[in-house]
Amino acid sequence: MLVNANEILRDGKVIQFNINNLEWTKWILEECNRLHNNVILGVSSNAIKYMGGPNVVALMVKGLLMDLDIRIKVCLHLDHGKDINICKECIDAGFTSVMFDGSLMELNDNISITKEVKEYASLFNVTVEGEVGVIGGELPSISLVKRYVDETSVDMVAVALGTVHGYGHMDIDWSLLDEVQKEIDVPLVLHGGSGISNDVLRLFVDKGIAKININTDLQSAFSKAIRNFLETNSDVYDPRKIIGFGEKALKKEVSSKLSVLDGR
Ligand SMILES: [Zn+2]
Repeated sequence: MLVNANEILRDGKVIQFNINNLEWTKWILEECNRLHNNVILGVSSNAIKYMGGPNVVALMVKGLLMDLDIRIKVCLHLDHGKDINICKECIDAGFTSVMFDGSLMELNDNISITKEVKEYASLFNVTVEGEVGVIGGELPSISLVKRYVDETSVDMVAVALGTVHGYGHMDIDWSLLDEVQKEIDVPLVLHGGSGISNDVLRLFVDKGIAKININTDLQSAFSKAIRNFLETNSDVYDPRKIIGFGEKALKKEVSSKLSVLDGR
């Protein structure tokens, strides 16, 4: 069932896995369904472009939910929408959640555009995630986080805590997370969840993170498996066999990340 992020967060904490193509989407859905874990499918603007556009993505996900008989709750979420137009296009295409990322703007502009996105999204029962501070950059003060959340009424908020996108040096500010958790009521999102051990991810969840975003770790597992396959099977040319070799590795990575939520 395709639902918004609130419907999923009401049931518990969740991992957002980013999708890059049909195969990833199918395998993530199959594995989450097998393990009875609701899931948020994140799609970046570039991944949307790569796949053909927001309608392709939304219709593909809807088709997979039907044809694979997926019984869990699934949310289709735009990751890091950098302007209001991409947010609106995704909402119009049938996405159930969008992130507006105005983190590089002046705070006042970030707030006013997030509000506009939220207003439009509310007409369609679509949830909105905002960002405050810059993931991989400047961390916000607690008063800034409070102001952003109060004024925008976002459904979820990504607060920069010192993690980075991709693999890179992290300097996590745990005391900021504690403070945010105490002061902020809306679900907190951790970006840059890759390259972090499951034990540390569990600590994030215990300290109040409601949604963990994972992309790079899946990319790494998938490409390693295919690289190994091609090195030892240079005569294989069937694309289904080549790409299909990533299935086991990707599903293993998905189930490992989902184990972070066990008992929580
Ligand atoms: Zn992110």
